[in-house]
Amino acid sequence: MTTTDTTPSDAGPIAERERFDSLDPATGAVVGTHPVHSAADVDRAVARARIASDTWADLDFDGRAPKLAAWKALITSRADELAELVRAETGKPTGDAMLEIVLAVDHLAWATKHAPKVLKRRSVNPGLLMSNMGATLEYLPFGVIGVIGPWNYPVFTPMGSIAYALAAGNAVVFKPSEHTPGVGEWLGRTAAEAMGIPGLLEVVTGFGETGGALVQAGVDKVAFTGSTATGKKIMAAASETLTPVLIECGGKDAMLVDADADLDAAADAAAWGGMSNAGQTCVGVERVYVHTDVYDEFVDKVVAEASAVEAGSGDQADIGPITMPSQLEVIRGHIHDALARGGRALVGGEDAVDDRYARPTVLVDVPEDSVAVTDETFGPTLTIARVRDMDEAVEKANASRYGLGSTVYSGERGPELARRLRSGMTAVNSVISFAGIPSLPFGGVGDSGFGRIHGPDGLREFTRPKAVARQRMKAPLTLTTFHRGSGTDKAVKKLIGLLHGRGPRKG
Ligand code: NAD
Repeated sequence: MTTTDTTPSDAGPIAERERFDSLDPATGAVVGTHPVHSAADVDRAVARARIASDTWADLDFDGRAPKLAAWKALITSRADELAELVRAETGKPTGDAMLEIVLAVDHLAWATKHAPKVLKRRSVNPGLLMSNMGATLEYLPFGVIGVIGPWNYPVFTPMGSIAYALAAGNAVVFKPSEHTPGVGEWLGRTAAEAMGIPGLLEVVTGFGETGGALVQAGVDKVAFTGSTATGKKIMAAASETLTPVLIECGGKDAMLVDADADLDAAADAAAWGGMSNAGQTCVGVERVYVHTDVYDEFVDKVVAEASAVEAGSGDQADIGPITMPSQLEVIRGHIHDALARGGRALVGGEDAVDDRYARPTVLVDVPEDSVAVTDETFGPTLTIARVRDMDEAVEKANASRYGLGSTVYSGERGPELARRLRSGMTAVNSVISFAGIPSLPFGGVGDSGFGRIHGPDGLREFTRPKAVARQRMKAPLTLTTFHRGSGTDKAVKKLIGLLHGRGPRKG
């Protein structure tokens, strides 16, 4: 059961508690009503998760795998129901909602399957000096992980933490965004139904205060995904108790288009990478740097692509409304600043933003210090800039305080340019593809945060390494004793000379 389904006996009747509505951003209709969980509620949720974490850890990998597989199967069999809920709370097209569910399920499967290989106890080489010892390394669960999530991918994004934390042997207390509490509750409800361990995935709902209470509730690690501003607050609050944090924040992702790139594919990727989900994607394309030789042709192609993108709430729409109404002002402000400072809108413009929707906007000739280039817009906008060569493209792409994802379209130099980009992930001749590859770690640098979800790094992120050195036989030279004589010291000095005293081999 999730906390929303239970009223702890000392918490008072549920009717007396503060509640809030989640709204359909396309219509303003109420989708669901949810409790605002207090600090005391959060503490109780963490206490229940703490009990569950012991049971869960004791099951070990073999005992956990079938339960996680049952949850995976339940999510899959009810994916239509979940997709409809995601559509209602975010406004995104149902097809996009289904895509994020499919990817989340795939990550859950990968994390379950690979957790033993990545985390299980194994022997490691003790080295020559300590060759009488046996050395083992394993990755043990922390206990209880607090997961705080955003609204833009309300299944895929938090599941990047939840699935990996559970597969690593932890219990989780999840605080979904106040814009998508119904999706969070759905995940908690189905986890309880499929895995049958009360408290294993607790869900607490509410606003920033509820998230703040979770950070201070004695969890063993906090995995946060959201804005950089909130990430800083969470890190500051967690520092009081030295609680470790994983911080996944926003981005201002750049795409590079080289002179020998497939321009049709690159233009398609720029339009989809920048405008799908109405641009509300942390790893969405926001800036494009194009080699001067192909700039005009590329811009024409992007204009054609972007002009065909339909915003609306029907089945025909390519993109839905802006989920968080306050973001409309940010998007309008970025377009306004770009145009006021000499930029031109080849598609859209300030009028493309109304009181629910932002339609595609393609901006050119925008100064690099305009907020449309420096700050996360989180709307269906692109800035496109001409560069003399790919060195300038790399330099401009890297001149950002963010460093989450990036994209390169190039015939010959894709991997080389990718490596030079200061970002956590890069897609070459594809866009956002890294997010769908479970074995690749996902996360950023700079203002985009630190730590990794997904892949082996994403599993280890929710564990503490446990190192054990065990004496197998008595050492010829015992170093760790007050009874060590000068003969031992001399022998050690000689040995270290033999082992490490020679410089690099010549010739
Ligand atoms: P947000 O920072 O406003 O909120 C995120 C979560 O934090 C919500 O659940 C919110 O209730 C909670 N919160 C707010 N104040 C808090 C506080 N003081 N203490 C604890 N919790 C608090 O972000 P958002 O608007 O929901 O999400 C959009 C942002 O998320 C964008 O910047 C986007 O780029 C980023 N994002 C990043 C990734 C990634 O993996 N790097 C993925 C998706 C979204």
